[in-house]
Amino acid sequence: MRLSNRVAVITGAARGIGKKTAEAFVGARADVVVADLDAEAGQETANQLKKDGVRVTFIKVDVADTLSAKAMIEKTIEKFGKIDVLVNNAGLTADGFLIKMDEAQWDQVIAVNLKGTFNCARFAADAMVKAGSGVILNATSIVGRYGNIGQTNYAATKFGVIGLTKSWAKELGPQGIRVNAVAPGFTKTEMISSVPEKILDSIIKKTPLRRLGEAEDIAKAYLFLASDEASFINGEVLSVDGGLVL
Ligand code: NAD
Repeated sequence: MRLSNRVAVITGAARGIGKKTAEAFVGARADVVVADLDAEAGQETANQLKKDGVRVTFIKVDVADTLSAKAMIEKTIEKFGKIDVLVNNAGLTADGFLIKMDEAQWDQVIAVNLKGTFNCARFAADAMVKAGSGVILNATSIVGRYGNIGQTNYAATKFGVIGLTKSWAKELGPQGIRVNAVAPGFTKTEMISSVPEKILDSIIKKTPLRRLGEAEDIAKAYLFLASDEASFINGEVLSVDGGLVL
């Protein structure tokens, strides 16, 4: 019941960490908007999560598109009357070594991970400021703390997301809005499906808890930060990585 009577929008919630976060929020009795670019998977996730006593709906969004992000927030308010929590989870990778990375790879990752976070937050924050309360949670990464080979574009966005988090925490805190980020380590989702087994094994060996993350591990951190149990936590980056240092 930690989120009862709260309305939460979770981007990238069709699958992976976003889906598990939506599941955790529904379990805590929040009304949840499953927002994603993938309409088929998003709709299916929303259908799976529906249960008595909570409202769950799917809204199609391309977070990289300003008007689409604006429409997502407007539709949420139309449907549920307010927005209490935004989880900026949608993200992607387009890896490559620096000298081989082309402009399209750079632009795509910046557009979704960094501009997408800005796009959704600005419209959600507008509604939250009017309401005098709210929580914004952003997805950074262990790569946003230490950098990583082959991830110039991704690291730039995830370091950037920490900058957004700290700036918004200062700017929006006085208006009753908390802003924090979660920094997952390597977590078993589609996102790491193309990482070679050998590299994952070496990551496990370097992780003091000797395993990869599960999407549920990350979902629990979002749930905590969204709840009143985190009511004095603002501008923080919570690492959920088993103690791994890249
Ligand atoms: P995933 O690839 O399983 O899921 C990402 C979701 O985002 C998908 O449903 C996809 O359709 C959606 N999405 C992509 N582009 C979008 C757009 N433009 N608009 C709306 N939705 C879009 O990935 P995941 O592992 O669940 O990652 C979720 C977040 O966690 C990402 O921000 C990622 O960078 C971060 N993260 C993941 C890991 C990991 O190891 N899996 C580690 C650190 C951080």
